[in-house]
Amino acid sequence: MRHWISRLVKPLLGYTGYFQLYNVPFHVLPLFEYTEKRDLYQPGGINAGCSTIFDHLRDRRAPFFLSDWRRPEQENLAALDAALTKGEISFAYLYMAALDAILHREGTTGAGVQRHMAWYDAQIRRLLARAQARYTTVRLYLFSDHGMTDVTTVCDLMARIDALGLRFGHDYAAMYDSTMARFWFLNDAARTRIVRALEAEPLGHVLSDDELQRFGCDFPNTRYGDLFFLLKPGVLLCPSFMGQKPLAAMHGYDPGDQDSVAAFLSNVTPDPAPQGLADIYALMLSEAQR
Ligand SMILES: [Zn+2]
Repeated sequence: MRHWISRLVKPLLGYTGYFQLYNVPFHVLPLFEYTEKRDLYQPGGINAGCSTIFDHLRDRRAPFFLSDWRRPEQENLAALDAALTKGEISFAYLYMAALDAILHREGTTGAGVQRHMAWYDAQIRRLLARAQARYTTVRLYLFSDHGMTDVTTVCDLMARIDALGLRFGHDYAAMYDSTMARFWFLNDAARTRIVRALEAEPLGHVLSDDELQRFGCDFPNTRYGDLFFLLKPGVLLCPSFMGQKPLAAMHGYDPGDQDSVAAFLSNVTPDPAPQGLADIYALMLSEAQR
């Protein structure tokens, strides 16, 4: 039902980005702002006004291929295959997100995961061969935006906070994500009681200023929360504002955890080699400017 409401409401609000209500209670929705209102890949898509790789390509009037993230993988593959056959593009971005859903559903050792990886392998090799037949130089980069951690236990953090009897929207506000909760305190008494309740929860911890800075989450204001509580890898916050039922795997844990590591593969050796996800930007920018 929420999925269908999201689909109906999205065009009415003029949103072009990814929009999903998930499990956020209807009565708290007016307290929050939605961040991804615009299609990230189109001009002006980033809230802070930063240019994307595609903005640079548009400025240079470089012919490029861009997947439609709303369409199935098969369609985007076929569209890129057709563009490579024509041979008019100098840069292509293929978006493949189906593996994420399979991993969430089956966990990292699921049979469907193995099958889909094998399918990716065949499809990418076919595309590479197609490109190499048409172009003298083909530089291929394959990367994911996160790892995946098998869920081993759930944490009912919402019940722990609800039990305090504080009023949502008067004393505090909270956003319960799958791996973390963010809190805004509307009075000091609420802050004291919530911090004490969180300190009694062994399955996670309150992020320190040092951690927030290392994670790139030391925002200049508290619009994303006065306090961030992160769960241990493998612990799912459930129920949460993202869902009511447990999933087999989740991402969004400590970036230093072994299962948080994203994938990076290439047929060239980039110099410098990207050390983190944000480094992909500079690498793609240099490719776009070739
Ligand atoms: Zn996901």
